[in-house]
Amino acid sequence: MENFENKPAYFEGKFLPLKDANLNIRTHALQYATAFFGGMRAYYNNSKKNLYLFRLEDHHTRLRQSGKILRFHWAMPFAEFRDITVKMLRDGEWRENCYLRPFIYKSDLSMSPRLHNVEDKFAIYAIPLNDYLDTTRGMKVQVSSWVRLSDTQIPARAKATGGYINSALAKSEALENGFDEAIFLDQRGFVSEGSAENIFIVRGGKLITPGNSSAILEGITRRSVLQLARDLGIETEERDISRTELYVADEVFFSGTGAQIAWIESIDRRTIGDGKIGPVTEKIRQRFFSLVSGEMSEYLNWLTPVY
Ligand code: PMP
Repeated sequence: MENFENKPAYFEGKFLPLKDANLNIRTHALQYATAFFGGMRAYYNNSKKNLYLFRLEDHHTRLRQSGKILRFHWAMPFAEFRDITVKMLRDGEWRENCYLRPFIYKSDLSMSPRLHNVEDKFAIYAIPLNDYLDTTRGMKVQVSSWVRLSDTQIPARAKATGGYINSALAKSEALENGFDEAIFLDQRGFVSEGSAENIFIVRGGKLITPGNSSAILEGITRRSVLQLARDLGIETEERDISRTELYVADEVFFSGTGAQIAWIESIDRRTIGDGKIGPVTEKIRQRFFSLVSGEMSEYLNWLTPVY
């Protein structure tokens, strides 16, 4: 396989090898974290010889909404965003699962943290990625001592680069304490999300996830999981979840572009259910992995074929 760093990225209005797409150290976004980003996946289906981008239009919409919250000028229409993304993958001859990182950043070299009167630019690149979290086993997680940023501080909804310091503090604390991931509580003390994942619990056959007011990123996988559950006839609910409700849930799992569907074996050293993947998680997980690789005709409208 060709080194992915030689494959094209889109940077400063043109395609060039990823290894040559580099920024000046004075860049505003680097000094002040004035940027926001997306995280998307494309899945390769070897029998169909095609690569499928997952929910591309939803990712574009979320990027536009982030830009609106953060007062960026980025107004790239969906068709242009799609064409750049597809061309980058086609020209790079991607034939494996990959992760794509579109981001919009304040590109000026000027001083002072602000959002107005600073130029912004769009870039996107791809890297090979299979599992981000190990989805073949259960995750051992801890409720973080770090609290999720509130919507009035750095809105998680905006997927702002600066907010990821909050995630990084929680993730490092969890790993250094011997866990695989962290769960944030929000400022009210209710369950929010993981460092880069949304969270779901199952109680009495019902699938429950924190609502949009729990300082979460409005995850595209989260939305897909809710839809999959409804299509399977599983009752769903978006509501506040208390910390100890996690401990007594029958099943708990993370969802995310990176994480996909990652089931949780224990939280704060309390075994969830019987410590195995639960039936609701298993059903959703199976359908998720089969639909993202283009194996389910009902969900083909979520996919953009690259070839
Ligand atoms: N929350 C956070 C903080 C994230 O970084 C991510 C990953 N993008 C998610 C949730 C999951 O969102 P999505 O399903 O859109 O990837």
